[in-house]
Amino acid sequence: MTRVVLATHNTHKVAELRQILAGLPGLEGLEIVGAGEVGAPSPVEDGVSFAENALLKARATAAATGLPALADDSGLAVDVLGGAPGIFSARWAGGHGDDAANLALLLDQLADVRDEHRGAQFVCAAALVTPDGDEHVETGVLRGRLTRAPRGSGGFGYDPILEPDAQPARAQGRPLTSAELTPQEKNAVSHRGHAFRAMAPHLARLLG
Ligand code: IMP
Repeated sequence: MTRVVLATHNTHKVAELRQILAGLPGLEGLEIVGAGEVGAPSPVEDGVSFAENALLKARATAAATGLPALADDSGLAVDVLGGAPGIFSARWAGGHGDDAANLALLLDQLADVRDEHRGAQFVCAAALVTPDGDEHVETGVLRGRLTRAPRGSGGFGYDPILEPDAQPARAQGRPLTSAELTPQEKNAVSHRGHAFRAMAPHLARLLG
């Protein structure tokens, strides 16, 4: 087995990434370990783009563990806010990772924005860094529209307020939020699914 460390301490992301990677053909020989399991550090995310932050997490983790490292940096980019909260998505309301406060503040800020102007997208940059310095970045996007109130209990973060443009057939014209999708439905269309599926050929090369 070839071991790869997932450079994230966010348990929701680890679960999604394991599921996405487990479904990819050709990667059966890959063993995914969490950053927490191998004592990898959480570096300061002082980059100014998703790609920069994903790369700095993967670089720090590869350097600390001597293993190839995979990182995700992601967030919500709202059209009328010029792409904000963007890299500040996890701490939009102040405290890091307070999902309920973050989305409540965002809905408040957008209260007067009409439905036709509520476009937004989740963005994910995936980075793979090997200990000998090979680096790859792939990005993925999930485009949709923001609701006026949260719906659904699946997923995490801003999932309850984004209705993806790509809807499963069972929605039958009544759009579901990303938090109302099953994990499989979300992964099939998500920014993270797109970015990590694009990473598959680079991961397959590690297996040699
Ligand atoms: P990071 O852990 O620094 O990459 O921050 C990512 C933040 O972006 C999370 O805390 C969420 O608020 C948001 N985010 C990223 N991916 C998703 C997703 O799939 N659904 C909902 N929110 C997401």
